[in-house]
Amino acid sequence: MQNIDNFDFGNKRAIVRVDFNVPLNSKNEITDDTRIRAALPTIKKIAEKGAVILMSHLGRPTGGYEEKFSLKHILPHISKLLGKEILFADDCIGESAKNLSLNLKKGDILLLENLRFYKEEEKGNAEFAKKLSELADVYVNDAFGTAHRAHASTTIIAQFFPTTKMFGYLMQNEVDNIDKVLNGAKHPFTAIMGGAKVSTKITIIENLLKRVDNLIIGGGMTYTFIKAQGGKIGNSLVEDDKLEMALNVIENAKKNNVKLYLALDSVNADSFDNGANTSLSTINEIPEGWMGMDVGEKTVKLFTEVVEKSASILWNGPVGVFEMSKFENGTKKLAEAIAKATSKGAFSLIGGGDTVAAIGKYGLEEKMSYVSTGGGALLEYMEGIELPGIKAIRG
Ligand code: AMP
Repeated sequence: MQNIDNFDFGNKRAIVRVDFNVPLNSKNEITDDTRIRAALPTIKKIAEKGAVILMSHLGRPTGGYEEKFSLKHILPHISKLLGKEILFADDCIGESAKNLSLNLKKGDILLLENLRFYKEEEKGNAEFAKKLSELADVYVNDAFGTAHRAHASTTIIAQFFPTTKMFGYLMQNEVDNIDKVLNGAKHPFTAIMGGAKVSTKITIIENLLKRVDNLIIGGGMTYTFIKAQGGKIGNSLVEDDKLEMALNVIENAKKNNVKLYLALDSVNADSFDNGANTSLSTINEIPEGWMGMDVGEKTVKLFTEVVEKSASILWNGPVGVFEMSKFENGTKKLAEAIAKATSKGAFSLIGGGDTVAAIGKYGLEEKMSYVSTGGGALLEYMEGIELPGIKAIRG
């Protein structure tokens, strides 16, 4: 497949969809530039022989220009990171963008103004996509975080580059690593699904049941499973309208020969607060007035044993309220167990905002095989949906 390593960018202008949706403080300073740094390898590679036109969204403008969402704020930082001056088009389409792009020479980099100043971007408008496409000879998508949206710049634009479209390094890396787990996992394959609610993860769980050997369920969704089976969960988080759904998961796990692991014990609190009183109980005997906030040591031992025997591990969602120090033990120990399994040869894929934050908190990012930047895109990928941004390139 065509990629940025085997494509000759000589005398070509490449329009690159990046995700520069970085957080800015009240002085319009970047507070976390991870996303910009992640795109640098792709930009540098293309700029060795060709010219680069960068396009991105920033924030959620409501339609039309809004100064606070202008990409001009991040221009100096990109210049600094790349060590050279970057050109800026204060409108992503139109005459000035066109003139600037036509005059680009080898090594030049042009940043276009926020795509979402046009409503057409999110609507996936073909006319708008065509205008963007007219700025360049090649289309590169390096924004995995928006690959699940059929927006003009992430998907629709690709049709105007039938033979000159490809993934950037970041996107390729995401796709390769997620495919490795979803479609080519070594067994035993263990998925750990945690987080708050079963309703937001049910489609992923159903999809994973067709692929995994072990499914560990943790976090807030545990209590819906426990209540569905007749357990006492006190005041724990529960989705009463999803009890049947939980029973179906248990049934489907059996049908698919998947071993389902739920917590054995629970660390409980008398209020949703780090200063709360705590108690320990078996998972199905949580007293009234108490809520389950983390898994207990017996569960940690069980989950660790499963993880240690796994060749592939997919983790999405903390198994407790890890943001509070009193209730972080389960998530921390689980992260350490996955890191250990990885050091012994297992392939571990970590994804989802909270899970990535958790392993960051414990300094274990480098100990995992791959940490996805995906968020919503990763979740939809795990649901088994072919993401429009990926399909548009693969054709
Ligand atoms: P999600 O976005 O669905 O992955 O949920 C992540 C959130 O689930 C985190 O903020 C955790 O604090 C929360 N969570 C994990 N375990 C529990 C629990 N037992 N009770 C309430 N919230 C939880």
